[in-house]
Amino acid sequence: MSQDKFRRELAAGDVLFKEGDPGSEAYVVESGSLAIYTQKPEGRVMLASLGPDDIFGEMALAGDKTRTASAMAIERTVLAVITLDYLTDKLNQADPMLRHLLRVTMARSRDSLKLARGDKRGTAAGEVPVKASSKTVLDRNAALKRLRIEQDLERGLEQNEFQLHYQPIMRLSDNSVAGFEALIRWFKPGVGKVPPNEFIWVAEESGLIVKIGHWIIQTACEAINRLESVNRMVNADAQPLFITINVSIRQFRDPELFSTLKKAMEGEWLAPSRVKLEITESLVMNNMDAALALLHRCKELGCKLAVDDFGTGYSSLSYLHKFPMDTLKLDRSFIKEIANDTGAMKIVRAVAGLAGDLGMDTVCEGTETLEQVNTCRQIGITYAQGFHYSPALPLKEAAGFIQMHGAAAKKIA
Ligand code: C2E
Ligand code: CA
Ligand code: CA
Repeated sequence: MSQDKFRRELAAGDVLFKEGDPGSEAYVVESGSLAIYTQKPEGRVMLASLGPDDIFGEMALAGDKTRTASAMAIERTVLAVITLDYLTDKLNQADPMLRHLLRVTMARSRDSLKLARGDKRGTAAGEVPVKASSKTVLDRNAALKRLRIEQDLERGLEQNEFQLHYQPIMRLSDNSVAGFEALIRWFKPGVGKVPPNEFIWVAEESGLIVKIGHWIIQTACEAINRLESVNRMVNADAQPLFITINVSIRQFRDPELFSTLKKAMEGEWLAPSRVKLEITESLVMNNMDAALALLHRCKELGCKLAVDDFGTGYSSLSYLHKFPMDTLKLDRSFIKEIANDTGAMKIVRAVAGLAGDLGMDTVCEGTETLEQVNTCRQIGITYAQGFHYSPALPLKEAAGFIQMHGAAAKKIA
């Protein structure tokens, strides 16, 4: 028998493994044939005869890693070897629920085989028969949790459990409302408000974000028109408001993203320049070529583009200037530091200056105090967004914010 990591050659009569042997490989028959048999007191019992393309030995990979039958070549036979490492690697890359299902299915068929052979140690059908390792239990729990969120998300979408809230983005030069960021909120019956960080990743992994994303785009475009009419009422000379929409990597690959955007903007008679798509720095940097092509398509539509969470990843303006970005959103970790660290303040001032030189405006996220707002203004940041002004609000309250803010601004003037 020739030994190779990925290929095995057997002569007629060669025994590949015996029942009870430890095993950590499965095999695909490339050519030849094998007999699979078990040993009983009354003699050898043939279980199967295998030929080209048949797979065998996989049970040892799923369960307690011992062979449940013996395998012997009937003629000269060539096998491709699937190692446990290879299988584990593939399983780890698979969808967690698929991984879990596969493990359970393999474990169950192993159990059925034991029962069929009269092995009383086998557990009853219907149970997960192998003793799960703690890693398997963790995997199973994670997969079940994810599946539950995914199913709840689908139901939530059908039942209109999602809302968009709008956080004001303030122009620092004159303290006026410049626009709003649309942020999703999920009101789950019996649970209450679920934070986006707890479900967006599942929506992304499952692809549901695409469907949710279409709803967000349509809703946000409608909302900005309603907010704009309030803005006009408060101040007829006010600059038109913009709306920013978060777009994740999965949405970016959605072939219908651009047609959905176009349809929503046209349907609302909305100038594309008033729609800004927020894309995280890591999305741009990890997918440079693909991102560049897609960003140019956004620009062809006439939309604006913002780099979100700048400062949490590469923070490389030398790369970013190659992308057609209009806005740099400085992550809230920046604003936290600049209040009590003059070094950090100098860096942010330099970044804001450089962004300005490259034709980009800047937003400071997470401004929570008046002092932070003043620092942002001092170092030349264009816009500020944060709890100092307001958290994200339901549409009606966002309209109220414009009215209140307009009235306050008139009073100051
Ligand atoms: P993000 O895009 O960086 O959004 C800013 C987050 O900071 C929001 O959290 C906002 O409520 C919060 N925030 C705003 N001002 C302040 C402040 O002054 N202090 C503090 N501590 N936090 C502030 P939220 O709404 O929980 O969203 C979290 C993340 O979930 C977002 O981060 C974004 O990555 C994602 N997300 C939210 N809505 C959407 C959406 O509609 N689509 C997509 N794809 N992702 C979304
Ligand atoms: Ca954002
Ligand atoms: Ca952000």
